[in-house]
Amino acid sequence: MRTASVTLTESTTNISGRGTPLNRISLPVRNDVHIRKYLPLDIRVRLRSRVLELAKLSMSYQQIQTEIFESTNIRLSKGSISGWVRGIHNPSGGKNKFRAVASPELAYVIGVIAGDGNLSVHGYNYEMLLSVTDHDFAAEFSRCLAEILGKSSLYKVRWSEKRKRWIVQGSSILLHRFLRGGWQLLKRYVEHCYRCRASFLRALFDGEGTIARNRISIYNTDLSLLFYIRQLLSKFGIETRSPYVNTLAGSILKDPRTGIFYERRRDCYTLAIRTADSLQFARRIGFAIQRKSRLLPQPLAFGLF
Ligand SMILES: [Zn+2]
Repeated sequence: MRTASVTLTESTTNISGRGTPLNRISLPVRNDVHIRKYLPLDIRVRLRSRVLELAKLSMSYQQIQTEIFESTNIRLSKGSISGWVRGIHNPSGGKNKFRAVASPELAYVIGVIAGDGNLSVHGYNYEMLLSVTDHDFAAEFSRCLAEILGKSSLYKVRWSEKRKRWIVQGSSILLHRFLRGGWQLLKRYVEHCYRCRASFLRALFDGEGTIARNRISIYNTDLSLLFYIRQLLSKFGIETRSPYVNTLAGSILKDPRTGIFYERRRDCYTLAIRTADSLQFARRIGFAIQRKSRLLPQPLAFGLF
């Protein structure tokens, strides 16, 4: 894999980058420093930008390694060099390949991040993360993420024994930046068309919706998000009751899977769909999660619609 990814041409040797050397870093010489683990962050930042500059000059990984070693006394592993270079330039690596184009998949990702998902930053990894109990929910997030980031294969859905959850992690600085401002700034992508609206709502109901005895509700601590959901649902002819507080801040919750207790920091609200509109919800929005989907009312016969 690693050797196959070396696509820079060896023949076009160009070392004009030597004219702008890095400030020499007085570190002891080491063999193949494992860059992520051992070098301080500021040095890694400078090394990485230097490596990317050199890669733009069509230098091979070997040439970059030599150049960095000569100017800094630090011997980077080719793995570190190739990781940095591919993270930016290789289309199949796709880490940064994201164009904000409205689609149901993008709306689903926006919905996941507005609900159950998280954005996080670890070093150079700008991640979109979902950790949930339903495998099909994680799989749908993986599919949508892969689609909008132009990946040929899906993101891995892995089981965490510690958290007792399925986890999907995708990484893209551009998508991270796009999502970081929150759903309030992304309404034009959510409201692009009826499919995008439905997809955004499905992501939120997959994450925080419940269904029991034909009653569909969604929970959230963000009242403004619930009002937005209410407005979007009404465009599908699905009416909701006024949101109400279901759990006050300070109450204690227990995660049934891990047995860990949590204290709620904020009031949690419920938005309940009018029972008469459950069928409409089933037809127009639905769940990606089978466990919830099979509890939805079933249309009696196709001809009725
Ligand atoms: Zn659309």
